[in-house]
Amino acid sequence: MTARLKLRFVMSADDLGQLPATSAELAFVGRSNVGKSSLLNALGAQKTLARVSKTPGRTRLLNLFDVDGGGTIVDCPGYGYASAPAKMRASWKTTMERYLLEREGLAMILVLVDGEIGPTALDLQMLEWLRSYGRPHTVIATKHDKVKSSARDKRRHEVAEKCGLAPSEIVWVSATKGVGLDRLGELAHRVLSDPDQPTRPSRPGR
Ligand code: GDP
Repeated sequence: MTARLKLRFVMSADDLGQLPATSAELAFVGRSNVGKSSLLNALGAQKTLARVSKTPGRTRLLNLFDVDGGGTIVDCPGYGYASAPAKMRASWKTTMERYLLEREGLAMILVLVDGEIGPTALDLQMLEWLRSYGRPHTVIATKHDKVKSSARDKRRHEVAEKCGLAPSEIVWVSATKGVGLDRLGELAHRVLSDPDQPTRPSRPGR
């Protein structure tokens, strides 16, 4: 089985009520520039895929993709550099919060943090917020290739500690080098095919 996902863009929505029902859904969240589009493209092995989410006018929308084999993926708007999740612009703060808390079928929220620079205050607020509501989430550390191999072990521990997790609970990926995509793809398949199973990363990261 290939762990890559075949994705097809379905729609953009600015309200939870516009989204079609789903059997199981996986959401991608993270601050702008964390590498979300690159990762979605790499995971879907389709260059044009996340361009959809970068199209002007769609960057503040929930972009929904169908996954071949069942389930959906939602690319959430990137949170900005300056504004905390608590201060997300009024127009989409409510949408994001409602989506993350109330979306029926939302089985896993992937919180992307930049592996090169580590989790920002905004990322940590997002994690704390999700934890306070008991929402299922997994931290994905991006840009693995940007961390020197000699520094990787230390960095894995630093990022995990800041996020309040064990190093093995964080999935490290590089969209550029293809690192971790199989592990992430497997996690996605598992969540989407059996959303009731509690899902934890099964193998230690690099
Ligand atoms: P988004 O705003 O979260 O969608 O971020 P993008 O996917 O547009 O990526 C932001 C920047 O980081 C771009 O310049 C990408 O080329 C770069 N980038 C993303 N993923 C990786 C990666 O795995 N490795 C490296 N070296 N650069 C990456």
